[in-house]
Amino acid sequence: MNRLANFCAGPASMPTAVLQKAQDEILNWRGTGASVMEISHRSADYTELATKAERDLRKLMNISDDYAVLFLQGGAALQFSAIPLNLLNGGVADYLITGTWSQKAYKEAKRYETLGLGKINLVAQGDGTDVPNVDTWQLSGKASYFHYCPNETIHGVQIFDTPKVDSAIVADLSSCILSEPINVDDFALIYAGAQKNIGPAGLTLVIVRKDLLEQASAWCPSIMNYKSQFENDSMLNTPSTYAWYLSGLVFEWLLENGGVEAIAKLNHAKADMLYRAIDESDFYSNKVNPKHRSIMNVPFQLADTNLDKLFLEESKKAGLLNLKGHRVVGGMRASIYNAVTLEQVQSLVVFMKEFEQRYG
Ligand code: PMP
Repeated sequence: MNRLANFCAGPASMPTAVLQKAQDEILNWRGTGASVMEISHRSADYTELATKAERDLRKLMNISDDYAVLFLQGGAALQFSAIPLNLLNGGVADYLITGTWSQKAYKEAKRYETLGLGKINLVAQGDGTDVPNVDTWQLSGKASYFHYCPNETIHGVQIFDTPKVDSAIVADLSSCILSEPINVDDFALIYAGAQKNIGPAGLTLVIVRKDLLEQASAWCPSIMNYKSQFENDSMLNTPSTYAWYLSGLVFEWLLENGGVEAIAKLNHAKADMLYRAIDESDFYSNKVNPKHRSIMNVPFQLADTNLDKLFLEESKKAGLLNLKGHRVVGGMRASIYNAVTLEQVQSLVVFMKEFEQRYG
């Protein structure tokens, strides 16, 4: 059976070449006579794999030695707790809410106020279609950090320019990491669940400036403590070895295909094509301020919501999978991460036009 076009928001489409390599190697990895998932994370072979994955990621994102790169578990959601536990340090943290994920991060951090860890300040809250104007932001002055989510996966709201704030910037890049170049030096901490642009679920990347490793709260569990994880090469306990391996293959694939600059061009071309199709029709709409439309997650509505079910049935028959929007927004959503090809987005646009001709 052919692989179909998969627009799932995460776990998401993986590059076919990566899955083929994993398939080739699954029974006997590098002549070890065992699968990579069957060997010790402390073996020399695995250590080499882990080190190479980090080296390739550093190359892809141009990450300097000032930063620790951690390969953790618990998903991006565990970082909603790990961040205040490691960085709040009795101070105030500023949180900007632009959608579901930054709201969840804010709510989770807020719980630590009751432990006396510090204060969590709401900077501004968007309506899920736009980013609150900077003039309305209530920054707290000397914050321990400023947290935001550059790409809201559910609402499809993206902030392309790094906010100009005085405090250390912490960013949830779960759904946009490696989609286009960023300047890592602008950030104090970057985190991302792997299951979109990196690899399979089960791995979470944390890229944190080393000078911030010293201020964890006594409440912070060791497994969530960045310094402990850094000192133990992210192997304080057994890491998610197979997800780490697959992510390493994705990094190799990206490097072989021109790196983040090259994939960014493709990503913009994919997003432009899809938004153009939406804007050219009265049958489809996207409610997000065009300046903040995500290049990774494209939500769209049908003018007649009674047709939603039919759209999903017919798109599936046409080999276009997982287009159902998140229940918070409704309608459809096409997640067009790195592994989704231009041709697949083209097929979606063709399908959308045909569907409109038949039912519009
Ligand atoms: N942040 C963002 C932006 C996300 O898209 C997601 C998952 N979709 C999360 C956090 C939570 O990630 P996880 O399921 O890995 O905890």
